[in-house]
Amino acid sequence: MYRRLNTQRMASSNPVAEAPNIWAVAQAQFDKAAEQLALDPGLRRVLRVPKRELTVNFPVTMDDGHVEVFTGYRVQHNLSRGPAKGGIRYHQDVTLDEVRALAMWMTWKCSVVNIPYGGGKGGVIVDPKKLSQRELEGLTRRYATEISPLIGPDRDIPAPDVNTNAQTMAWIMDTFSMHHGYTIHGVVTGKPIAVGGSLGRNEATARGAVFTLRQAATALNLPLAGARVAIQGYGNAGSIAADLLAAEGSVIVAVSDSSGGIFNAMGLSPAKVSAWKREHGTVVGFPGADAVSNQDLLELDCEILVPAALENQITDRNAPRVKARIVAEAANGPTTPEADQILFDRGTFVIPDILCNAGGVTVSYFEWVQDMQSFFWTEARINESLREIMDRAFESVYAMSKRHGVHMRTAAYMVAVARVAEATTLRGLYP
Ligand code: NAD
Repeated sequence: MYRRLNTQRMASSNPVAEAPNIWAVAQAQFDKAAEQLALDPGLRRVLRVPKRELTVNFPVTMDDGHVEVFTGYRVQHNLSRGPAKGGIRYHQDVTLDEVRALAMWMTWKCSVVNIPYGGGKGGVIVDPKKLSQRELEGLTRRYATEISPLIGPDRDIPAPDVNTNAQTMAWIMDTFSMHHGYTIHGVVTGKPIAVGGSLGRNEATARGAVFTLRQAATALNLPLAGARVAIQGYGNAGSIAADLLAAEGSVIVAVSDSSGGIFNAMGLSPAKVSAWKREHGTVVGFPGADAVSNQDLLELDCEILVPAALENQITDRNAPRVKARIVAEAANGPTTPEADQILFDRGTFVIPDILCNAGGVTVSYFEWVQDMQSFFWTEARINESLREIMDRAFESVYAMSKRHGVHMRTAAYMVAVARVAEATTLRGLYP
């Protein structure tokens, strides 16, 4: 029964309510790199905006029989280097501008690690915690249907992002395959292993971030063993980063999720915190740790800070109090441009998101290659190939930052934008 229309828009849960529009941030970051590269003004106009944007409003029958209408987006920023690649996010605060920014960042991210993709991103305005599994499946299948004119293994390949996971990808792959009448594994990545997923994909974002952290630590002569680490966000990226860093001998002093954070100067056991979170749905209340707010966590005394939640967390207000020597951006867009400058001036080494968290899309690329060839690699081969790509990307960005005296974000943009600009120029303007 059609009972009510609900846009699913709720009051913002973002702790930094007056945070800047991240689409404006993404464009400002691009402008800065374009300026440094003295990019042709026409090319600049092309790369500054998304190529395609699709908005879909679609109905889902809820468990009690009433019909809810949800709004979703799929944006393709640039396709010069290959099909669009980028995750799908379910969150009550999703906006078209956010999806645009994330799509543009995907273009640069795929370029910085030099894999043959352009950038895309999708999102649905929904708080998935309020939906049952059946409702989530219905929402996912209908959203996949609505964006199916854009997606496909040669056109646009979604993956998981905030609040979506391997199960979500399995539903999308199945829906797309049903429409075509045969199984098309390569339409999404981040799938379960049983349906064409890749070994190592689940850990890839965190593993890639840790590879870049190793390189940064070497550059700064800061041993990872014994380094104190604070991690904001304890989901896929954050919790696995905690595991891998603990294995390097780092001391995980604080972690958090949307409900709050926990702190123990002596170190937290990621395995025990994960078990607690599985049982209680949050890290909050973990025995033997003090409570810390998500904002205070960012200012803790530590060597390494890993924002692994949402965007706009480090701003001009808290950046002067960030004590970490390295900020490793596992999340997308956690630092505002004003905060970037403050961190740079204070000598904080930022591993920018498009480099730091590119491990996810890199192993997504491996997954897609394996799906297209129906030939699957060992985990050892995947992790080693990931390390090679991340190390090479880090070295090219670090060298660019030294050569031009710019911070790592601008350097990453310069490496990435130059490659996309070259591809766009070589292909020429049609017609
Ligand atoms: P996830 O949904 O698995 O985890 C997100 C975590 O952040 C959860 O623990 C959640 O409770 C927490 N969180 C949400 N709002 C918060 C807040 N206001 N303060 C503190 N914590 C909060 O998502 P994920 O896949 O780990 O993604 C996290 C970040 O990493 C996002 O920015 C995403 O775009 C980025 N990222 C993820 C991947 C990937 O492969 N998973 C790849 C690249 C980038």
